[in-house]
Amino acid sequence: MDCKDAERMIPLFLEDNLDNQELQEFLRHVNGCADCKEELTIQFLINVGMKRLEEGNAFNLTGELEQKLQDAGHKMRIRTSLQWAAVILQALVMLAIGLLIAIAFFMQ
Ligand SMILES: [Zn+2]
Repeated sequence: MDCKDAERMIPLFLEDNLDNQELQEFLRHVNGCADCKEELTIQFLINVGMKRLEEGNAFNLTGELEQKLQDAGHKMRIRTSLQWAAVILQALVMLAIGLLIAIAFFMQ
């Protein structure tokens, strides 16, 4: 999978519309590709984050992404994948927190 494929799959991932094999390849690529990981975080924040901010429920946003990635890991039922999912998770949560702070700043 190259970056083009991964970027095309981001909206599908966010809508839970990837099958197991696609999901596995997607997560594997995102784990190894900082550009796509960043793109995933940005699209997640745009798609879900802005909605939550409108609802005044942004505080649980990072938890939602964490849950989504955990669910994705469970779907694949590959124990080893959970280890690097946790690494992605930590990186994404840190990115998400930074972006949320930036979004909150610009919305003031
Ligand atoms: Zn990539």
